[in-house]
Amino acid sequence: MMNAPIGRGKRRLGVMGGTFDPIHHGHLVAASEVAHHFELDEVVFVPTGRPWQKADQAVSAPEDRYLMTVIATASNPRFSVSRVDIDRPGPTFTIDTLRDIADIHGPDTELYFITGADALSQILSWRDVDELFTIAHFVGATRPGHHLHDPGLPAGRVSLLEIPALAISSSECRERVAAGEPIWYLVPDGIVQYIGKRGLYQRAED
Ligand code: ATP
Ligand code: MG
Repeated sequence: MMNAPIGRGKRRLGVMGGTFDPIHHGHLVAASEVAHHFELDEVVFVPTGRPWQKADQAVSAPEDRYLMTVIATASNPRFSVSRVDIDRPGPTFTIDTLRDIADIHGPDTELYFITGADALSQILSWRDVDELFTIAHFVGATRPGHHLHDPGLPAGRVSLLEIPALAISSSECRERVAAGEPIWYLVPDGIVQYIGKRGLYQRAED
């Protein structure tokens, strides 16, 4: 684990939660841009266990999503992957993710939770919303086609950052694989290969 640079105070840790089914270049660019803008020391990617927002849809096995996240982030020394959500039984709630990450890293680390602006606009419906904002600073990555209308979010604890127009989504990657269309360059090369090797997102599994 990297230490905070001397003289800069607390270590800054980005937390990028997601289903990552599959992880794609939109996720990676968002993490990289937020890390640069907020001078983060590290970004930890946290694949969800059972995402409560997606309870009604089929999601790939946690180990496949975890391994794809490891493959996609392995070459970046400032990126890492945590198993806290996939190892915790039951549905994943962001409050539990942040409590676990905060416990692991202790009080000398500031948390920056990175999320797409589409998810941020639903944030007020999340569990324990007041505590969320005391544990982490929230960074909403604005993404093509999604705008914040009436966020009503606490001032000073939420920032928005525009990410270069990346209209990539996991849903579209899954649809493309199912339709036999290429996903090269939408996801890292190793992810194309892992999806092929494991036969993920084939229509037969729908
Ligand atoms: P799906 O299409 O299945 O909803 P997704 O592409 O949104 O998948 P998730 O794993 O649900 O991927 O997203 C994890 C986080 O990354 C969310 O906070 C989401 O808003 C954000 N995100 C997803 N795609 C992008 C993108 N292209 N640019 C910036 N942020 C993104
Ligand atoms: Mg999504």
